[in-house]
Amino acid sequence: MRTDTIASLVGAQIVGEGTYDVEWILTDSRSLCFPETTMFFALHTERGDGHRYVRDLYERGVRVFVVSSLRKDLHGAIQLLVQDTLCALQRLAERHRESFSIPVIGITGSNGKTVVKEWLYQMLSPDMTVTRSPRSYNSQIGVPLSVWALNEKSEVAIFEAGISMPGEMSSLQRMIQPTIGVFTGLGPAHQENFQTMEQKRAEKMLLFMDCPIVFEADEAVEDALERDKELCARVCRHLGMSENVIQERLSRLEPVAMRLEVKQGRHSCTLINDTYNSDLSSLDIALDFMNRRPDRKGRSRVLILSDILQSGTPSSELYAHVARLVESRGVEVFVGIGEELMSQSQCFAKVQARCSFYPDTDTFMHSPDFASLRDSMVLVKGARAFHFDDITEALEQKVHETILEVNLGAVVDNLNYYRSFLNPTTRIICMVKADAYGAGAVEVAKTLQSQPQVGYLAVAVADEGALLRSQGITKNIIVMNPEMSSFNTLFEYNLETEVYSFRLLDALIHAAERAGITGMPIHIKLDTGMHRLGFDPMKDMPALIERLKSQTALVPRSVFSHFVGSDSDGFDEFSAEQYRRFLHGADILQKGFSHHILRHMCNSAGIEHFPERQMDMVRLGLGLYGINARNNELLSNVSTLKTTILQIHDVPQDETVGYSRRGKLSRDSRIASIPIGYADGLDRLFGNGNAYCLVHGKKAPYVGNICMDVCMIDITDIPEAQEGDQVLLFGNELSPSALADIAGTIPYEILTSVSSRVKRVYYHE
Ligand SMILES: *Cc1c(COP(=O)(O)O)cnc(C)c1O
Repeated sequence: MRTDTIASLVGAQIVGEGTYDVEWILTDSRSLCFPETTMFFALHTERGDGHRYVRDLYERGVRVFVVSSLRKDLHGAIQLLVQDTLCALQRLAERHRESFSIPVIGITGSNGKTVVKEWLYQMLSPDMTVTRSPRSYNSQIGVPLSVWALNEKSEVAIFEAGISMPGEMSSLQRMIQPTIGVFTGLGPAHQENFQTMEQKRAEKMLLFMDCPIVFEADEAVEDALERDKELCARVCRHLGMSENVIQERLSRLEPVAMRLEVKQGRHSCTLINDTYNSDLSSLDIALDFMNRRPDRKGRSRVLILSDILQSGTPSSELYAHVARLVESRGVEVFVGIGEELMSQSQCFAKVQARCSFYPDTDTFMHSPDFASLRDSMVLVKGARAFHFDDITEALEQKVHETILEVNLGAVVDNLNYYRSFLNPTTRIICMVKADAYGAGAVEVAKTLQSQPQVGYLAVAVADEGALLRSQGITKNIIVMNPEMSSFNTLFEYNLETEVYSFRLLDALIHAAERAGITGMPIHIKLDTGMHRLGFDPMKDMPALIERLKSQTALVPRSVFSHFVGSDSDGFDEFSAEQYRRFLHGADILQKGFSHHILRHMCNSAGIEHFPERQMDMVRLGLGLYGINARNNELLSNVSTLKTTILQIHDVPQDETVGYSRRGKLSRDSRIASIPIGYADGLDRLFGNGNAYCLVHGKKAPYVGNICMDVCMIDITDIPEAQEGDQVLLFGNELSPSALADIAGTIPYEILTSVSSRVKRVYYHE
């Protein structure tokens, strides 16, 4: 839609010159993907004011803003000035909805909306193009974004409407204007905001006020999932689907994913993390999950639960119900956190589980109950306000005397070193794969995401991206090696992905369509000579364009390739040939699309060696972590691997040290044991005097074989060394490159080998 059309639809005053085509609507600045065709609505919400992000988005390339107060410093941008930005967003959705005359299914009710929506989608999508609310976009902001997804291909639409207060439904109704109503039933959720169940029902029913037909869940069917299936079947019948097909598709419905995370914790605990929502039915689902999980005998089942907020049920009734669940689902230790639970502790008087109560999370975390948690399966379930992520984080913590010290300031120095080769407009993709080359992806990403010119972060697999998202990283993230089994993680965490083959492309399109994704940015890899992964730039482009144009789930955001030998002058001729092949493929691909597809080819060495080939973006890896990929010299050192001396032995010359008596001595020696071994990533090739570490800045060679968790070093010539003293395994004075030469490998391997049990400690110089 053009900006002048939008302005007249929503009654906005246009401030600024020119017009733009708008394809994407953005309300959360963290989700920005396509700045050139994005319009940002600066909304006031409980959590903040969108106007605060306008300038930042402008710098990231957005040129169209809907605002209720103007800014002066947006040269060349358009501001649509309105009284109320949320009203404008909803008005735009209403007008957009009115331009479609297709069946629109509107779903509301207390429970099961998302399940019914997803199942209806599964049943209808083999026959027609279905547009539906992504995930559970059912709010005052979610519904307009859902409706905006309607496009000329849509043949039927399914939208969810969710309310928590009186007066909210009529605006949702105007945007959805359902022609088929689905009511999933009435439950206790949000009852505190309504006087009676009838009042709540009446509010919800407003969705269907102009709707010729409404299907309502049959309360007589007890099993919730059966009830949802029956509803779906009735809607499909109404749409003319034959009974055979309905039965066949019902039998193949796939469960809609729940959000439970299972993690290994310390002291042999397993953590089940479900801090997503806190109500009775999701508690029951989570308890059931814990109860059924196969596990060793004798492990106790622990539930840590916060007050359940906003249930609308009187406390005594609510927690009596919780107590019954605790009893029937076999919980052995119950921890209740919150004032309400404390005051209702008598509800738990009769349960078998050992119960304790704390007023808040912090008090619990300082209690002996918390310190003594071990060998248990722990379900952590609490409302956001209780910050239960503090509990899960502490339970996940690992302790070890060996540390990898990471200087985040040095990461920034190195970034700036590479920026000096680049034009100010070239974007940098920072490679934080392999846990940021061993340095720790989360902290490195936090440091990088606010740096100038950093356009993207890149990880190897989807789980690495999910981890970053869960730790608050909002920058765009590219997953370089998506696994077929990880697509839902990509969707859930808003990750972009590399696509290198038709097989991967087809699978991704299929999965994205199922998940209701549209416009997911992807990055097309071309194989120009590495012969590892990628499309053939000479042959594959026409078929690739055709496949991409036949769908709307994915959008090509960039096209890229990889030099095989940018680190060495010896391959310059081949690098030039790779570059030619790349341009050939990228040019053809670009001709298939009207939006600009970004191009990138240089890695760290490439940035230095071929700055003229920087194009739109570059991919910076090793250099960030302090090693110059052209000559292996240290830039600003980032990672320092350190440990301490555990014990010192005076060993006579005729004795030996370590396994298989390999540590032979040429003199009476002082031998120190240090708590690091090959399981920490210390290469066994370093043993038997092949390499050394530093104690008080002096060389201490490894003696004998490196063991799994410990090794021995010779400190005979370092008389000042004491037990407890620090030992440096690599860092500024002993570079990973030097060790790599000894082990016959490359510094990348030395850095990425430091195992995850080595604690990372961060500092900013
Ligand atoms: C890892 C990686 C890089 C970064 O390479 P460095 O040599 O570490 O700079 C660039 N591109 C791709 C595709 C990669 O996988």
